Amino acid sequence: MRLRDFVGNQQMVQILRRGQLPQASLFTGPEGVGKKTLALSLAALANCKGGTEEELCGTCPSCVKEAAGHHPDIWLFQPHKNLIRIGKDARDPNTMRQLNREVQFRPFEGRLRFFIIDQAETMTEEAANCILKTLEEPPETSRIILITSFPHRLLPTIRSRCQTFPFHPLGRETILSYLEDHLTEDHLEMRASLAEGSIAIALSLDLEETLEQRDRMLGLLTSWCEQESFEALYKQCEQLPLRSELKTREGVWRYLNLLHRIGEDLYFLQVETPERIVNQDRLEDLQKLSEGVELNWVRDFLYHVDRARWDIDHYVNPLMCFETLWLMSSNDVGNRHRQV
Ligand SMILES: [Zn+2]
Repeated sequence: MRLRDFVGNQQMVQILRRGQLPQASLFTGPEGVGKKTLALSLAALANCKGGTEEELCGTCPSCVKEAAGHHPDIWLFQPHKNLIRIGKDARDPNTMRQLNREVQFRPFEGRLRFFIIDQAETMTEEAANCILKTLEEPPETSRIILITSFPHRLLPTIRSRCQTFPFHPLGRETILSYLEDHLTEDHLEMRASLAEGSIAIALSLDLEETLEQRDRMLGLLTSWCEQESFEALYKQCEQLPLRSELKTREGVWRYLNLLHRIGEDLYFLQVETPERIVNQDRLEDLQKLSEGVELNWVRDFLYHVDRARWDIDHYVNPLMCFETLWLMSSNDVGNRHRQV
């Protein structure tokens, strides 16, 4: 991808395209914000034979090979089984030993050799230890880029040997304007709002299913605020499909994100900026819900949802994360109802 077409995180893109990529880098940030795309584009730029210093041409033999995934100096390591590009499984220590050897070679065709390890957090400890020395002293003509959405899962020894470049979630407006250029369907606003700052999520989102899940969470939150009863809450959680989805990490993560969105909407209602509300189609229900709670409760609720997301990311049992969230929210019961 041409660097000028890259969406979001522009400041960092500008720094990196001007050739300030260190020998060992760590790209961190949420899924789907372009970490891997940028890594590959930088590799293409460094080896392009027809572009400028800051932009690849996209048509020279080097660019064509990169785009097809066949560039002999650009290696991509991923944990997936069915690899489309030059794929190697980064979890395998033998593959990392191969990386150690390849890093030492001078470029075959281009100026720099690139070794990009996607989802680096999935490396086994043994695999990670294999590349420690290489990360410390890579040859002048090689660049290593580790990519992860979960930097804390990497060994500290790995993290400390790389310069970190944090990618941020993209703004709703940025995503929306991208979608408007690339999709022709209704509800682009909604799609952009639910995309969690990621173009990849925005494009792949099953909107209908997501709205169903959102309604489920809104229902749960409403009855929680009305009844304050765990029994009622558990009864709702026992119903399919919620029951099965709450057993998986991904399922709970998705629901927590939807709850966070609803919580933010309640916040915007409370501080009287309704134009920022994402779930505009459920405005009436949100208003009703908002009338029953206090601003402090909304703030605490958002805090607890965040906390639950942290827990889920740190391997706490998914269902327990979800249940603890409600327990914590009920501790704030004193703040919940407006004093009449
Ligand atoms: Zn080129």
